[in-house]
Amino acid sequence: MAIKRVYFDNSATTKISPEVLNAMMPYLTEEYGNPSSIHYMGDVATMAVHTARKQVADSLNSRPSEIIFTSGGTESDNLAIIGSVLACKDPKRQRIITTTIEHEAVLEACNELKVRGYKITVLGVDREGYLDPSVLDDAMGDDVALVSVMAANNVVGTIEDISELAKVSHEYGSLFHTDAVQGYTKMKLDVKKDSIDLLSLSGHKIHAPKGVGALYVKDGTPILPINFGGGQERGLRSSTENVPGIVGLGKAAEVAMSTMNEDIIGMSKLRDEIISNMLSINGVHLNGPIGKKRLCNNVHFRIDGSKGSDIVIKLSKNGIAVSAASACSAGSSEPSYVLTSLGLTAEQCMSALRISLSRYNTKEEVAYFTEVMRNLTS
Ligand code: PLP
Repeated sequence: MAIKRVYFDNSATTKISPEVLNAMMPYLTEEYGNPSSIHYMGDVATMAVHTARKQVADSLNSRPSEIIFTSGGTESDNLAIIGSVLACKDPKRQRIITTTIEHEAVLEACNELKVRGYKITVLGVDREGYLDPSVLDDAMGDDVALVSVMAANNVVGTIEDISELAKVSHEYGSLFHTDAVQGYTKMKLDVKKDSIDLLSLSGHKIHAPKGVGALYVKDGTPILPINFGGGQERGLRSSTENVPGIVGLGKAAEVAMSTMNEDIIGMSKLRDEIISNMLSINGVHLNGPIGKKRLCNNVHFRIDGSKGSDIVIKLSKNGIAVSAASACSAGSSEPSYVLTSLGLTAEQCMSALRISLSRYNTKEEVAYFTEVMRNLTS
C-alpha cells in the first residue's frame, strides 16, 4: 500500500489556509508599520487591525470594541480569569468555579489565584464530559466571582451547554467565561444570545497562524490587565500588535463564517464514518460523548490491549498524524486527567487515540486511515 500523508490532528493545530496566507502576505512584507506610529505606514497597520477586529466581532455577534487581540488561547484564558477576578469590586466574591476537564490554561490560571488566596471549586463531569447545569447551580453562591466552563473539550470534544451555564452563573451575580478555543467555528457561538461575559479563542485552531488569539470582553465587564507596558488594546494587552497574525485571524474568522454550515456537515459525516469504521474493529470503544454533544471534528476511542502512543507512531510511519491524548500538553506520559475525569482507568486512558478533523479532510483519507488501522489491529 502506497503511503499517503493524512493530517488528523487539527485540534492540536491547523494549516494556514491559502486565503489567510494571501491576506497576511502584504503585512509580512511591505506593510510592516506599527499601528502606534502616526505616519502613513502606521495608518495602514491600524486600518488592517481595525478590519480584523470587525471580522472577529462579527463572527461572535459582538461589537469590535469588545475584542482584545492576544497571543493565543492561553493568554486569553489567563487575562479573562485573572483579570476579571482581580477587578471584582465585591469583597465577598472570592471564589471561582471551573471543571475537571478544562485546558491547563484555565486550570493553572485558577491555581495562580488559589496561591493568591482565592477559593477554587472544581466540578466533576459525567462519563460523556458533560457538566449538568444543575450541578453548577448546587455549587453556586453569592461568593462566586467567576464561572469558567469550556464551550467544547479539546480531548473528547464534548459540547457544553454554555448558554444554560451562563444563565445559572448570572442568577448568582457571577461573571461567566468560556474557553472556546476548540468550539470556535465548529459550533454556533453568539455571545449575546448565550449571555457570555468573556470568551477565549485562538488563531492556530482555525487555519490562522500560531501566536495570535482574542478575548471577547462584554462591554462594561470589570477587567484589569495582567501585563503592563505601552497600553495597546485598550490598556488590556500591552505590546506592539502582531499585525500579520491579527490580519490572519480576522480573515480566518471571515472565511469560517461563510462556510461554517457546510463545513460542520462535511466534518460530521467524516467523523461518523470514522466512528462506525473504528467500532467495527474488535476491541475498539468510543470515549466521551455519544450523539449531538460531540464536536463535528472529534473522534476519540480506545483499543483494548494497545498503547495509544505505539499506535500513533505506527500510524505516523504510514503518513498519518493523530494524537494519543491531548497534544496541548506535549510530551506527557501520564494518563490524561480529562479521561480519568470521565471515569476511565489508567490503562484505558493509555490506550486512547484522538482523531481531529478540519474542513480540508476527505473521504479518501478516511478510507486510507481505516485500511491502515485494520492492518495494525489485525
Ligand atoms: N484552550 C483549549 C481548549 C485548547 O485546546 C488550547 C490548545 O490546544 C488552549 C486553550 C491554548 O491555546 P493556545 O495554544 O493558542 O495558547
